[in-house]
Amino acid sequence: MSELIRLTAAELAATLAAGEVSSVEATQAHLDRIGAVDGDVHAFLNVSDAEALASAAAVDAARAAGETLHPLAGVPIAVKDVVVTKGQVTTAGSKMLEGWVPPYDATLVTRLREAGLPILGKTNMDEFAMGSSTEHSAYGPTRNPWDLGRIPGGSGGGSAAAVAAYEAPLAIGTDTGGSIRQPAAVTGTVGVKPTYGSVSRYGLIALASSLDQAGPCTRTVLDSALLHDVIGGHDPRDSTSLPEAAPSYADAARAGAHGDLKGLRVGVVTELGGEGYEPGVRASFQAALDALTAAGADIVEVTCPSFSAALAAYYLILPSEASSNLAKFDGMRYGLRVEPGEGAATAERVMSATRGAGFGDEVKRRIILGTYALSAGYYDAYYGSAQKVRTLIQRDFAAAFEQVDVLVSPTAPTTAFPFGAKLDDPLAMYLNDVATIPANLAGIPGISLPSGLSDDGLPVGFQILAPARQDARLYGVGAALETLLLDDWGAPLLSRAPKLEVSR
Ligand code: GLN
Repeated sequence: MSELIRLTAAELAATLAAGEVSSVEATQAHLDRIGAVDGDVHAFLNVSDAEALASAAAVDAARAAGETLHPLAGVPIAVKDVVVTKGQVTTAGSKMLEGWVPPYDATLVTRLREAGLPILGKTNMDEFAMGSSTEHSAYGPTRNPWDLGRIPGGSGGGSAAAVAAYEAPLAIGTDTGGSIRQPAAVTGTVGVKPTYGSVSRYGLIALASSLDQAGPCTRTVLDSALLHDVIGGHDPRDSTSLPEAAPSYADAARAGAHGDLKGLRVGVVTELGGEGYEPGVRASFQAALDALTAAGADIVEVTCPSFSAALAAYYLILPSEASSNLAKFDGMRYGLRVEPGEGAATAERVMSATRGAGFGDEVKRRIILGTYALSAGYYDAYYGSAQKVRTLIQRDFAAAFEQVDVLVSPTAPTTAFPFGAKLDDPLAMYLNDVATIPANLAGIPGISLPSGLSDDGLPVGFQILAPARQDARLYGVGAALETLLLDDWGAPLLSRAPKLEVSR
């Protein structure tokens, strides 16, 4: 295997800047890796070799001409298939958009292109980002590089698996209820859900607009910070985009990596642990807490009583918004169109035939649930109540952050589960998001980084949450914890993943 694919994005960027290797070589090394292992992993729905190599060649030419380049210029990246990319098929994991080629780029894609990051391709995901395992993808699941019989998390399992399998040093995910952080947790990688409004939503295929946020999937905290610096910042095309300039997250991560944790107040959320969390997950979480304590942090327990209703509120708000956002897939404008079998092709019958054939079971389940929750007579009882719970959760966070600097929990209650384990039981699947959902409901940022292995030999994620707009704090504390754990382990956790054989 080429050593180039083992480098972190920061290391690869330094190697490129020093002229030791070209972007074409680095991009080709990743394309070769994809060719070798993606038949097994299935992280990608679509690989854009020619375009990626052309972008890489353009960066190499600019570097040779002495132009000033972005620090990540030439480092290739994978993009979740829910993000629209001009000229590249974008399906959101659905048959509804099979073969659809968007006529424009999402803002974050424009920023990747401007910074000179070659786009390797589009990654697999649960259909319209609904799920925690990628088993709801219309194109078949992604497999976890740690164990090909297990799920890579979801909905962004493709992005996390691509990074974990060294198919890409960087990837983009989206997190509406945990779809960046939970896949990071179960693949031993790092994932960040930025503050709501930190990264433009323009050009994301919307799931639940008040919850959706795009963010980085990487192998290190610094790499996530570097990527966040590229994709973040104000965008006039997104009315919820934060107007103020963000600090350098990479600086925060670099300072944190060797920073002092003395006096840092860390709150362990009582409601996000204990019963329902696997013993191996709890043990790994506790080991990370011990490392923080040994480094001088003060660990206190914090209660957030409304979190017990977070999952229920989320599964009313998300389907409500999704039922509205997905109304546009009607066979009339773009995407799939199915003519009814017999009789007149009235608009209503075409819509019904199209939506019946184009959406999978999980998407239909949520559209029905959301339409019901929003219907006259039920609105106050369901959607209205859920919005009230959302306010209570925001207040719990506000009160908690008066006592502590960051809140922590395991990212997910379990390690990667085998395929099929929760597929027929939607509630069991939803429970996997119990620790990640509160952050989305409150709009605050969260990071998941590996805390070690469970007793089953599979990775466990450690979640850190900070107040809104304090994403820099996550990078600082995250990098500090990463350094402490790395000192203990002696080598990155991913190096302990069973080797994926090349060319099987
Ligand atoms: N697993 C969650 C869900 O199914 C999260 C989805 C997401 O973040 N896109 O809704």
